[in-house]
Amino acid sequence: MITVLKFGGTSVGSAEAIVRSAKIILMEGGGRVAVVSAMSGVTNHLVKFLEDENAHVEDALALLEKKHKDVANELLEGELLRGFSDEFERRMNALRDLLNDRDARKDPYFSDNISSQGERFSTLLLSYVLRSMGHGSVALTSEEAGIYASGSPGFGTADLSKTSAGLMMNVKPLILKGVIPIITGFYGRNSDGRPLTFGRGGSDYSAAVVANGLDADFLEIWTDVDGFMSADPRIVPGAIVIDEMNFGEAAELAYLGAKVLHPRTIEPVRMKHIPLKVKNSFKPDSPGTLIHHLRSSKNEMLRSVASKADLSIITVSSSEIAYRPRMVARIIDKIADAGVVVYAISTSLSTVALLINNPDVKETLKHLNLIAPEDIERIEVKSNMALICAVGDNLLSRCGVSAEIFGAVYDAGANVELISEGASDVSLNFVVPTDKAVDVVRTLHKKFVGE
Ligand code: ADP
Ligand code: ASP
Ligand code: MG
Repeated sequence: MITVLKFGGTSVGSAEAIVRSAKIILMEGGGRVAVVSAMSGVTNHLVKFLEDENAHVEDALALLEKKHKDVANELLEGELLRGFSDEFERRMNALRDLLNDRDARKDPYFSDNISSQGERFSTLLLSYVLRSMGHGSVALTSEEAGIYASGSPGFGTADLSKTSAGLMMNVKPLILKGVIPIITGFYGRNSDGRPLTFGRGGSDYSAAVVANGLDADFLEIWTDVDGFMSADPRIVPGAIVIDEMNFGEAAELAYLGAKVLHPRTIEPVRMKHIPLKVKNSFKPDSPGTLIHHLRSSKNEMLRSVASKADLSIITVSSSEIAYRPRMVARIIDKIADAGVVVYAISTSLSTVALLINNPDVKETLKHLNLIAPEDIERIEVKSNMALICAVGDNLLSRCGVSAEIFGAVYDAGANVELISEGASDVSLNFVVPTDKAVDVVRTLHKKFVGE
């Protein structure tokens, strides 16, 4: 029996949090492996450093050093404190050398390398704290564990079969010996052996990839809320915890904005039928949310609602486009060449509308403009849109549900710009202006779930 446990930034954000997380790991029976994020605030600090041309290397390092050493001094002593400090110093010096190396900055993966450094320090800390509690543990970087990735900077995708081989060689033997491996989340190694991140919040995905690679029996995502909730509790304070969801529901909500899980967390575990639990590391006894293949029907019209802001609708118009399938194919081809993610597509007799991220608009237009001008009448862009994703029981099959949902959207004073109904079998997705998204989420929640 192998359990993969993932701890997010707040779950390793202070001495108390680290002790709590270490105890959670030790509570678990059987083989255990943890995947860990950077201490809260650390990745933001590194990203800010990268964005500020005038930032001083030593100032940036001093903050990291203080944050981790304060915790180490509080929780470790003697031989263990010395062991931690030596390894910490070695990792810190490697980071210092990297930040002072002007040539290293020319590497397109430099930002990935720097922004993922926080995980190297948090894993070390947690591993030493476990040792101080009398348990064998070793901190492994993604490179050492064998997590392989490919893709462009900041958009890595794990190579599941290569990673599985790596984990079986480097991690499984440790688990069999009763040692607890603590692995860096957030990134894998690219074909040059350098860090490639999975996007912000990527440690959830790392943990799912590790669960997949080790053929684990269970994945536990330990975070700072009681589970997967009916809405983001920061937007809807009365949001409630969902006790059980299926993979499809969780995947759709995470993809479309429920930040509690990285958008790509579900697929690696769904592929191998590995159940996942979302739990609160600050309240280990609360039941959390179980996400697995099937769930019992609760007959709740709306179970959870998420929103994803900062999107744009690009509408391409051309006469009788619907009767010219090659034209539609050409538009889709150009979008593929631009390498952008499309969240929804809708067509009519003479238009194709595509929903993409705001920052991708420029690149998309560049590629669409390569289509012969006589083939396209007009391209329009509507920016600052938000996609609302509503998941519920029989949402798509029960008569009149759409009318009720859109009635609530009307109550929120929002205009629906695009609807994607039936594309997913679990959710109803539609687009409203970003400045209305919070009101729409709150109104839907109030009407169908409660205040
Ligand atoms: P971690 O650092 O543990 O990965 P995150 O901050 O990435 O934690 O994710 C947890 C946060 O996700 C919660 O604090 C909550 O504000 C937010 N969130 C958004 N949507 C949901 C939802 N549907 N259910 C629970 N939390 C959500
Ligand atoms: N530390 C990374 C981030 O802040 C990854 C994660 O927390 O999952 O994005
Ligand atoms: Mg997260």
